[in-house]
Amino acid sequence: MNAKTIAAQHAALIQFARAVFVDWPNVALIDALDIQDAAVEAGLLQLVSPAPTIRCGESCECAEYLSPAGWAIGARCYRLAEWMREAQP
Ligand SMILES: [Zn+2]
Repeated sequence: MNAKTIAAQHAALIQFARAVFVDWPNVALIDALDIQDAAVEAGLLQLVSPAPTIRCGESCECAEYLSPAGWAIGARCYRLAEWMREAQP
């Protein structure tokens, strides 16, 4: 379990928001991969480790993009951090 305090969650979300809005007001130009990178950097998303060499779940999106050669070296598969998946009160 990777529990985060409310203060740590708040800090992570602020870090993510600042990264996404770094070029305000030109946010329409932000790239989806930049958003993903910012989410990883802030701890909202986590890279699955070790890299899956088979489809790692029913909702695994990496399976949609990988070739057999890609699977041989392992998928770069991201998951929401556990604290991001928790139900809200
Ligand atoms: Zn996966």
